[in-house]
Amino acid sequence: MTGTTLDDYTDRYAARVRGMTASEIRALFAVASRPEVVSLAGGAPYIAALPLDAVGEMLGRLGAEHGTTTLQYGIGQGTLELRERICEVMALSGIDVGSGASPEDVVVTVGGQQALDLVARLFLDPGDVVLAEGPTYVGALGTFQAAQADVVHVPMDADGLIPAALEAAIADVTASGRRPKFLYTIPTFQNPAGVTLTDERRDQVLDICERAGLLVVEDDPYGQLSFDGEAPKPLRARRREGVFYLSTFSKTFAPGLRVGWILAPHAVRDKLVIASEAQILCPSAYAQAAVATYLSTMPWRQQLKIYREVYRERRDAMLTGLADLMPAGTHWTKPGGGLFVWMTLPEGLDSKAMVPRAIAARVAYVPGTGFYADGSGTEFVRLNFSFPAPERIREGIRRLAGVMEQETAMRKVFGPMAGRPRTGRGQAGADVPGPDLA
Ligand code: PMP
Repeated sequence: MTGTTLDDYTDRYAARVRGMTASEIRALFAVASRPEVVSLAGGAPYIAALPLDAVGEMLGRLGAEHGTTTLQYGIGQGTLELRERICEVMALSGIDVGSGASPEDVVVTVGGQQALDLVARLFLDPGDVVLAEGPTYVGALGTFQAAQADVVHVPMDADGLIPAALEAAIADVTASGRRPKFLYTIPTFQNPAGVTLTDERRDQVLDICERAGLLVVEDDPYGQLSFDGEAPKPLRARRREGVFYLSTFSKTFAPGLRVGWILAPHAVRDKLVIASEAQILCPSAYAQAAVATYLSTMPWRQQLKIYREVYRERRDAMLTGLADLMPAGTHWTKPGGGLFVWMTLPEGLDSKAMVPRAIAARVAYVPGTGFYADGSGTEFVRLNFSFPAPERIREGIRRLAGVMEQETAMRKVFGPMAGRPRTGRGQAGADVPGPDLA
């Protein structure tokens, strides 16, 4: 080896590293974090809505009074105390003792992201197929890509995943001589689309998967962040066999603690723990104690309500801003919860090509290309409403609408290639997830 640049290592990389490409958009996000830029790009909860004094005091006591356990190693599955609390949290969504949920079958993970990685490790060999909504969570795409699996997207409409399209996708993959391993789905307040699978479709999707022998990986970070009444019950509350339920405290408490979990079919639980121990030995004892103590001593249900109210107001600010300011031909989803609105640009506009101009106009968003395994989705934009204040959201929408109008005018003068980046249409492969893509 002659130098110290990464390129010197290219021929030594494992095959799975080939798909790991950082998108050019990532560099722009460094600029997006400047205070003058309104960022509608992130996926961050509004942590300032937490009672930070009380949480801080609790965290201090956990070290000072319980440090001999909280600063020690723990067990791979996670503490029983936290797993019991997790069962209380799931019961709120209808996943309770009656649906076979037990602390025995919960595995604590380092955020929802490790939960995804564990499921991928357990079930995916190179070349295997995962069915997933199109668009889907960018971090899941990164995980499946690292496992060298192929993602086949299944389209959604305003009612979530389309059952007939799921059946067709299963048939197509099977006809090509391959067997899809699982359906990865975010049925409630989906990231990035903001849509929710209806009650009726939930049963249909479960039936289709059962008939096809397809496992279901249900990712549910947002189900408890509903704004207009309760969300439909999770898939796992309806069926226990063949459904893996993944969730996290990142959106309902604090992502900085990195605590998530999997509720797994009993037979699989040990394999998940073994795989997790090989990755991380055990989840942080301190972070687990923090979450368990928060859940047992602080008004967490009240805090959920506060998050919901803050986000409802921000969702409304976004929807009103879009209705007031967006040019004709723009469409968007109307989420009943969660953190995101998914917008369709007027005919001919390219969300990826538009990013530099948006940043110059001091507004940031994530182009739709990040949420498709094949880099398609240039006509879409993901907008986050959980972090910026309502007036900043409106200002961000105003700036973005201005950029879109400019872009349309340029296309009229210079033709459809105006404003295209030199790299052209979205490259294959999902953007590597970073905090801005959460
Ligand atoms: N799944 C989905 C659908 C998400 O949106 C996210 C985070 N944005 C995660 C998993 C990962 O969550 P965590 O921060 O707990 O790792």
